[in-house]
Amino acid sequence: MLTEKQIRALCDIAGTENVFFDSESIEKYAQDETPDMKYQPDTVIILPCISCVKELVGFCNDEKVPIVPRGAGTGTTGGCLPVHGGVVLSFEKLNKIIDIDENNLMAVVEPGVITGNLHAEVEKKGLFYPVDPASLDSCTVGGNVAENSGGPRAVKYGVTGDYVCGIKAVLPDGTDFVFGGKIVKNVMGYNIPGILVGSEGTLAVFKEITFKLIPKPHFVSDLLVPFASIRDAALTVSRILRSKIVPSAIEFMDKSSIDAVGKLLDRKMPYGEAGAHLLIQLDSSDGDEAEKIYEKVGGICMENNAEDVLVADNSQMKEKLWEARRKIREAIKPISPVKRSSDVVVPRFKIPDLLESIYLLQDKHKIRFINYGHAGDGNVHVNILKENMEDSVWNEKLPVVLDELYAIVVGMGGAISGEHGIGLVQKKYLRKAVGNREIKIMTDIKKLFDPNNIMNPGKIF
Ligand SMILES: Cc1cc2nc3c(=O)[nH]c(=O)nc-3n(C[C@H](O)[C@H](O)[C@H](O)COP(=O)(O)OP(=O)(O)OC[C@H]3O[C@@H](n4cnc5c(N)ncnc54)[C@H](O)[C@@H]3O)c2cc1C
Repeated sequence: MLTEKQIRALCDIAGTENVFFDSESIEKYAQDETPDMKYQPDTVIILPCISCVKELVGFCNDEKVPIVPRGAGTGTTGGCLPVHGGVVLSFEKLNKIIDIDENNLMAVVEPGVITGNLHAEVEKKGLFYPVDPASLDSCTVGGNVAENSGGPRAVKYGVTGDYVCGIKAVLPDGTDFVFGGKIVKNVMGYNIPGILVGSEGTLAVFKEITFKLIPKPHFVSDLLVPFASIRDAALTVSRILRSKIVPSAIEFMDKSSIDAVGKLLDRKMPYGEAGAHLLIQLDSSDGDEAEKIYEKVGGICMENNAEDVLVADNSQMKEKLWEARRKIREAIKPISPVKRSSDVVVPRFKIPDLLESIYLLQDKHKIRFINYGHAGDGNVHVNILKENMEDSVWNEKLPVVLDELYAIVVGMGGAISGEHGIGLVQKKYLRKAVGNREIKIMTDIKKLFDPNNIMNPGKIF
């Protein structure tokens, strides 16, 4: 609990009108998109300006009050939940795009910018920020950096960290620091932005981020490819990649995902009877090349037993296909409000083996999974559903299923999280996938940045 004196000090720094204590106002900040989890903060500060971050953080450090930075709360591993109470610092109003620099192909932004807004603004100038988490209409770039988020276009364009050139941040002791800037190369010592990317709010509070931009590709084709068999769909992914064509996205959806999203959107899905769909996006700046790769990829799909190749030839149809893909997560909620979502990743060529093992695991434990994800990255969202299962059976089965799933993934040279992070819900599994020495290097880094353990305590380790 904060003392009267501490409350007064926070109000003096941030302005009383920006500091919230009443249960109605702070309710929203006690949860994110992680199912079934709630942790009440002592207070929520909706940051009114970047300049007050430093003083707030320094004060919390002096008083040993936990700080939890928060973007939009779309995280799915409990990353922004205040497990030890304290102060939630919400960046929701710090959403200014400070500069889009067309000469240097850079964007400088505040952390609360919604990712989709950054896309729209840079695209007006013929530029492209390709990182596209399915939550892009609501998540913030600060959250994306803290989680090193990816999206469907990671196959060709990489993840958030590949675009971070500079970070201005505040250390837990309240001191400012800057690493990098509008430069695409920088070897002045350690790659500190590389350490802050994916740090899940546990090392420092970001105040300003500089992202690299690229020219926007002009020719984009979207193909929906139905398969009777999941294995054929998975093998097709490997064969496309082996053909040396790198699509901008290769998304996989199994039949249960297609059914769920059709129900949510109250829409008959194209090829709704198929066992699996691939949604493939191809892009190029050259029209002739675009046509060649699209014909080649279509050919590979048909050679690998695709039932058809549907080409989305207008923007409305493209949007409908992608809307369906983005809504799968939401579509699963009514089927099973309690579920466990895992975002495992394996070397791309192992995708057919991973999917086969996942379905065997489901049959072995008689528990239903809904699987979809970024197949082109080897990254699958495995949703383990509780449905009507008794609580006691679920509590017994879930850890066993997760243990076996993660053992399979680690055995394939993979990782237990490809994009959602460790946060709170995955931390007990981290040690099964990462060695003691490697964990020690990470905890030593944490101690160096945050000796008082005030930054988002209780996460990752
Ligand atoms: C429907 C849906 C689809 C999704 N699809 C994807 C996807 O395709 N790919 C993907 O990678 N993820 C996806 N996610 C997960 C989520 O959207 C991402 O992790 C996203 O980056 C979180 O951003 P946020 O602004 O909501 O951050 P929050 O959830 O608010 O916070 C996430 C973490 O960032 C830290 N943080 C936030 N701001 C700062 C800051 N200024 N300084 C330091 N730390 C900070 C927090 O402390 C926390 O640890 C999806 C989620 C949903 C609900």
